[in-house]
Amino acid sequence: MTHGDDQGLVLPPKVAPTQVIIVPIYKNDEEKARVMPVVSQVERELQVFRVKVDSREEFTPGYKFNHWELRGVPLRLEIGPKDVDKNTVAFARRDIPGREGKSFVPHSQLDGQVAEILQTIQASLHDRALNFRLSNTHDPHSLTELYDVVQKGWALSWWCGSPDCEAKVKEDTKASTRCIPFDQFTGEGRCIVCGEPAREKVVFGRAY
Ligand SMILES: [Zn+2]
Repeated sequence: MTHGDDQGLVLPPKVAPTQVIIVPIYKNDEEKARVMPVVSQVERELQVFRVKVDSREEFTPGYKFNHWELRGVPLRLEIGPKDVDKNTVAFARRDIPGREGKSFVPHSQLDGQVAEILQTIQASLHDRALNFRLSNTHDPHSLTELYDVVQKGWALSWWCGSPDCEAKVKEDTKASTRCIPFDQFTGEGRCIVCGEPAREKVVFGRAY
C-alpha cells in the first residue's frame, strides 16, 4: 500500500522479481549495431542482480520506460549511442521520478554503483514506509477513540493480551492486532478494551 505513486508500483529491490531493466536506445541500424553489443556486455556484467533487457523492436523507449515503471522495477539503465561514445550508462531510479533520479555512471564502475543504488533505494523505501506508518499511528485514550482512529490509520494501544479483548475490537471494527513495530516498551498501562493492567502495546489496524 505504501510502495507506489502515480506511475504505479515501486518495489523494494529485495523483493523485486526484476531489479534492473536495461533499455537500449537507438534510432537506426547503425546506432543499433553500436548499442546492442554494449547492452549485452552490461547484461553479462550485472548477472549477480536480477537483470533483464527489453530489446523488443516494436516499442519505443518511452513506452518501455512506462511499462517497467508501472511494474515497479527499482532501477532502469539506458544505453544509447551517446552513452557508448562516452563510456557511460544512464541510471534512472524508480523511487525518484524525473531528472532528480537520473545519473550517469562510468561503465567501469557499473556493478558497484548498481549495488549501491539498489541498497539506497531499499533503505529509502523502508524509511518512507516507516514514516508513513508513524505519521498514521495514533494513541487513542478510549475505546471509542480507538474505533474512530482505526477507520483511517493505526492505533498503538495497551493490550492485556486476552484474545477476548482482541476479538471484541475485531468484531466491532474489523481491526485486528498487527505487528509491534517498536522494540522497546517499558512500563505498564491499562488495556484499551477492558481496563485491566497491560504490559504490552500493540498496533490495531484494519487489513487492506
Ligand atoms: Zn483487555
